[in-house]
Amino acid sequence: MSTQTSAKPSTVVRREDLDPLCPHCEAEIPEIYTRKPKGSFGIGRAFVFFCPHCRKVLGFGAQWYPFIPG
Ligand SMILES: [Zn+2]
Repeated sequence: MSTQTSAKPSTVVRREDLDPLCPHCEAEIPEIYTRKPKGSFGIGRAFVFFCPHCRKVLGFGAQWYPFIPG
């Protein structure tokens, strides 16, 4: 199965019944862990998001999730 996409989709379909797959361990991730990076991760005030299964980093983001306490 290829994950290549040659064209951007023109529509966004909400699939609340599907869980995303981790690109690293390919496990279903109904939730994503996040924490403030520290140490060598010290990238400003951004948050790091990671897989709850393999704990590999999925990405970084600013503080925009409302459920994350300041
Ligand atoms: Zn994973």
